[in-house]
Amino acid sequence: MSGSAGAPLDAGGLLLDMDGVLTVSWRPLPGAVETVARLRAAGVPFRIMTNTTSRSHGAIATSLRAAGFDVADDEVLTASVAAAAYLRAHHAGARVFVLGDAVPDDLAGVRLVGLDGDPEVVVISGADRSFAFENLNRVHRVLLGGAAFVAMHRNLSWMTDEGECLDAGAYLLGLERAARREAAITGKPSPDFFRAGLEALRLPPERAAMVGDDVENDVLAAQAIGMAGVLVRTGKFREEALAATAGTPGHVVDSIADVPALLGLA
Ligand SMILES: [Mg+2]
Repeated sequence: MSGSAGAPLDAGGLLLDMDGVLTVSWRPLPGAVETVARLRAAGVPFRIMTNTTSRSHGAIATSLRAAGFDVADDEVLTASVAAAAYLRAHHAGARVFVLGDAVPDDLAGVRLVGLDGDPEVVVISGADRSFAFENLNRVHRVLLGGAAFVAMHRNLSWMTDEGECLDAGAYLLGLERAARREAAITGKPSPDFFRAGLEALRLPPERAAMVGDDVENDVLAAQAIGMAGVLVRTGKFREEALAATAGTPGHVVDSIADVPALLGLA
């Protein structure tokens, strides 16, 4: 069944989540390559909005092209590039420690230091092996010492070939509770990140839609700023997660392959 809730989608452009929507473990999901080609042929502008921080936006675009997607480097917006912009604007010149998988390529202009380098800002990136007690405990103490607190995203998990993986958002909740304050978020679900995508599309929120597999961080977050939201039943999608949310996605479809029809593209 390929049903969608609500009226047909009237959108002049799309923001697309990558992981779980276009790819899983960097391999295209069925119909995803064809859908992007269809959008391109129809002249529907899009940007890929990803909280994936393990590769730079250029490396992500290269990986997507290798998987068959017609995507340019500047059509990929990452939480790390957004973090660099945030740090340049709010903490210019500050000593920044990044916990997690971020690559320096997307952090231009940021002064990176280790935990021994007296960080003034802590940035939580995607979860990897460095999310071990020793490092988390030191980050906790740096935060108690007054360092600014930034996180790339709030993702609790992502889907891989081996199954769902725990992501930084799960650790972030604990760090925030322990430090009794909230991190500033640079990727999804930050409204500023969606607005950066809309700016690139040159569209107001009501003329654009976000397509994602994360009901909270992709779909409801986009709807909160006036965009249309499309939830796909691929990647980490689970019926229980959808049932447990307070909000309602405007559209729910089986996969990205259903989006052209939703847009009225034959
Ligand atoms: Mg996703």
